[in-house]
Amino acid sequence: MPTSSSSSLLAFAAQRCPRCHQGPAFKTSAFNLAHFQEMNESCPVCHQHFEPEPGFYWGAMYISYAFSVAIVVAVGIATYVLGHDPDTWVYVAAVAVSTVLLLPFSFRYSRTVMLHLFAGIDYDPRAGAKPAGPVARRVPFPGPLAPHDSNRPVLL
Ligand SMILES: [Zn+2]
Repeated sequence: MPTSSSSSLLAFAAQRCPRCHQGPAFKTSAFNLAHFQEMNESCPVCHQHFEPEPGFYWGAMYISYAFSVAIVVAVGIATYVLGHDPDTWVYVAAVAVSTVLLLPFSFRYSRTVMLHLFAGIDYDPRAGAKPAGPVARRVPFPGPLAPHDSNRPVLL
C-alpha cells in the first residue's frame, strides 16, 4: 500500500523507497515470519534499484550487531529494574527471547539504514508523482491501404 510522504524520517520508519518515499522496500510485513527478509529488487512505484552493487547489504551486519547490543543493554537494564536484580538465568532468558523476537525488525531496519544512508539515493518528489490524467498514447495511423497486388493470393 503506497503512502505519500516527503519526510525522509517517516519514509525510513515505514521502510519505504528513499527516492520516492512511497514504494515499500520489503515484499511482506515484518510479522510474516517465513518471508520477512524478502526485499524488493527495485521500487514498485519509481523503479529505483535497491541494490547499488553486489554484496551491498553485507554492511547491514554491522548495523544489525549494533541493534543487538542496544537490545541486550536495554533489556538487561529493564530486567534489573523491573525484576529487582533477579538471578542470572532471568537476564539470559529475557535477553535471548527479546533478541529472537526482535530479529525481523533488527534485520529490516539494518537494511533500511544501509538503503537510506549508504546507497547514495536522494529524495526526488517527482519520482513517485503520477500523471494527472490518462496518458495520451500515440497510436500510429495505418496510412493508406496498399493497392492489392492481383498476382498474390488473398489470405483470409
Ligand atoms: Zn521509489
